[in-house]
Amino acid sequence: MHENAQIVIIGGGIIGCSIAYHLTLMGLTDVIIIEKGELTSGSTWHAAGLIGQLRSNQNVTQMLKYSVELYKRLEKETDLTTGWQESGCLHLACCRDRFSELKRGAAMARGFGLDMHIISPKDALDLFPIMDLKGVIGAAFIPSDGQADPSGLTMAMAKGAKSRGARIYRQTLVTGFELKGSRVTAVNTNKGKITCETVVNAAGMWGKEIGRMMGINIPLVPFQHQYLVTEDIYGMPSNLPTMRDKDSLLYYKKEVGGLVIGGYERDGIPWAVDGIPKDFTQKLLAADFDHFEPLSTGAIKRIPILETTGIVRMINGPEAFTPDGNCIMGPAPEMDNCFVATGFNAFGIAAGGGAGKMMAEWIIEGEPSVNLWPLDIARFGKHHSGTKYLIDRTKEIYGKHYTISWPYEEHGTARCIKQSPLYSILTNKGAVYGQKFGWERANWFAQEGLEQKDIPSFDTPNWFAQVGKEHRTVREKVGLIDQSSFSKFEVEGDGALQFLNYLAANNINKPLGNVTYTQLCNERGGVECDVTISRLSEKLFFIITGTAFGVHDFTWIKRHIPCDSSVAIRDVTSCYSMINVCGPYSRELLQTSTEDVISNERLQFGQCRYITIGYAPALVVRITYTGELGYEIYVQPEYCKYIYEILWKNGQDLGVKNVGYRAIDSLRLEKGYRYWGAELTPDHNPYESGVGFCVDLKKGSFIGRDALLRIKEVGPNRKLCCFTLNDAKPVFFRGGETICHKGEVLGVVTSGGYGYTIKKNIAYGFIETDYVNFNEYEIDYYGEKISATVHEKALYDPNREKIFI
Ligand SMILES: Cc1cc2nc3c(=O)[nH]c(=O)nc-3n(C[C@H](O)[C@H](O)[C@H](O)COP(=O)(O)OP(=O)(O)OC[C@H]3O[C@@H](n4cnc5c(N)ncnc54)[C@H](O)[C@@H]3O)c2cc1C
Repeated sequence: MHENAQIVIIGGGIIGCSIAYHLTLMGLTDVIIIEKGELTSGSTWHAAGLIGQLRSNQNVTQMLKYSVELYKRLEKETDLTTGWQESGCLHLACCRDRFSELKRGAAMARGFGLDMHIISPKDALDLFPIMDLKGVIGAAFIPSDGQADPSGLTMAMAKGAKSRGARIYRQTLVTGFELKGSRVTAVNTNKGKITCETVVNAAGMWGKEIGRMMGINIPLVPFQHQYLVTEDIYGMPSNLPTMRDKDSLLYYKKEVGGLVIGGYERDGIPWAVDGIPKDFTQKLLAADFDHFEPLSTGAIKRIPILETTGIVRMINGPEAFTPDGNCIMGPAPEMDNCFVATGFNAFGIAAGGGAGKMMAEWIIEGEPSVNLWPLDIARFGKHHSGTKYLIDRTKEIYGKHYTISWPYEEHGTARCIKQSPLYSILTNKGAVYGQKFGWERANWFAQEGLEQKDIPSFDTPNWFAQVGKEHRTVREKVGLIDQSSFSKFEVEGDGALQFLNYLAANNINKPLGNVTYTQLCNERGGVECDVTISRLSEKLFFIITGTAFGVHDFTWIKRHIPCDSSVAIRDVTSCYSMINVCGPYSRELLQTSTEDVISNERLQFGQCRYITIGYAPALVVRITYTGELGYEIYVQPEYCKYIYEILWKNGQDLGVKNVGYRAIDSLRLEKGYRYWGAELTPDHNPYESGVGFCVDLKKGSFIGRDALLRIKEVGPNRKLCCFTLNDAKPVFFRGGETICHKGEVLGVVTSGGYGYTIKKNIAYGFIETDYVNFNEYEIDYYGEKISATVHEKALYDPNREKIFI
């Protein structure tokens, strides 16, 4: 075989076939699927077939909703049986916290355009009459969820793709790749090679191995996942919904006259971590009844008739799980023409239709029609790829699949991977750490007898008052925040200025020592990156972005670098620690610590310069994310502890305190500063996100300018609005809460929290411009409709007087 195709998809499971189906639907028909066995012979054939739609992210839910839309019509369209049944899904709550979670889910679903309603235990029993209601205090029902035959769905999509020209090579094993620079030029198989323009890795749990062959890091690990199938159950209703009884870690689905019963044990078992056996195709693992026993005991309690019902078979199938429980999609950062769609964490059948559509858009149009950052492969870095990390964290995530998801919850495994030089010092001063992109970051500081840990709760958390104190330190005195985890790049070269000005919406052509806050937009004007760029010399620029966005932003910038060697980019994250000195006394503190003059005249807001603190050289950038006078001090890590100790000592008379990330969030919400991934995303342009002041349409050509010009002329359709709740009792927004006016859904909360200075709860959300001027709104918080007021200006220091002093 020596073939050629525009696109080669590796893997003939539901994901590979769905991608081919949607590529061909969008007109790209020169597609080959390569499958080492028969179609579906990986994880797909043995899936249980529950199709749920609600996820915690709006766009991911849209993706799953599309799957359902597709599955409804697929059988008719292709003449192949898919087994689709819109059975609905019942969720049970057996404790107060679970019921809170269900209420929050129902409110969120409404904002996402999905019907999920809270029902009584009695209604739940009517829907699922073979269960015992013992312990059930509440329930919820999603009528449009369903179930299907995973193989049937896959075959139908394969047929659809084939009918439009896709070729499918079964019994063909991918053995390697031919590479030229950062491009794959051909896929080698045991039957010959296929030259191609683009490769898609949809190889399920083999995705990591295939990725390694291409030089791509794909952090997934196979885990065993079991369900049992019962004999027919007497009195089984014909229209039984699927059911999730998460307090018992169980799910149920009707299977002919009996039940499928599966679940997520707390101590999941990884499988084949050193490599999947070569002959593992269309196979199962040996049933592990002992491991399943805690689940089956719970199942018998819920459905007593199971005690006397026989088991037809136990399915133990391996499936690709990931360290954050989300699948892995998008263009591989390491390569220029490779895409990935793997690691579906036992929701690949539910995701299949939508994931195929999103991938087809990503491949053909350069990005999916909705931003999928939570699934984007660029959310991972090198520390995610090691086997130890994968096993430890994925095991924890697998075990938490059905446990209650607490607000502000942190994970316990794979911690302390990346530590700032201040880690031990701050630990001794009470730091309670969270983890972001492997970095330990102080969320708050336990003082005055507080336990040095988060205590999970849906009510007011144990850290609430202390974070208020840290917040006030920054508003009234001076705080030190260790923000060493920020991602940092240097862009350098003869063409650096011209290049960055072509990427940035703002004008960075400013004198040396100036700092520009800017968005990097896509052609639609959507915000791909939100960064500050400091001009350190004629040809050297220092870019700062969020901790978790380093791979994403670096890749975006690198992909646009001209090939004439006039510009180079380096990731210098590890070369600099950063201490943020912020608050009205921050200048006084810094001035007592340096021989350089840092008066307002010598170092203005939006400027940077090199100074010396004690004996140590540092780069000081005067910007703020708290809304106060403040300085970000970038130092080589070896000076970090030394500088911190000077600042700490000199700050004692000024009331200096350590401040953590939870206080930053409260401060920035009051000031109206946006966060990428929430208020700034590729789905939203700077005008609707309220950062239109950063767009310089007069500076000349840049990416997204044409779109932004059009948007500015006609005005944006949506606007990011700032709300405060009219009830002062603190609430704890997690994003996704519904914003309504007189019961009509207008939008969802992007992020929110408590503002300790204004003593109000704050929430942000996008609303269509026709609906932004009502006197009163309601925000649905765990089912409680709380009245809210919209604000035109920043809640704190709207005239920016504090930051220019
Ligand atoms: C027990 C169990 C129950 C489940 N229940 C559900 C459920 O109820 N609902 C739900 O949504 N999800 C469920 N899932 C998850 C679902 O099965 C998977 O997420 C989904 O099938 C993944 O599809 P895929 O196409 O990514 O992978 P796969 O189906 O594994 O497809 C990957 C394909 O790549 C091929 N391949 C690998 N390497 C090569 C190579 N070198 N050359 C050529 N081909 C190669 C493989 O042969 C395989 O066919 C369940 C999973 C398990 C294990």
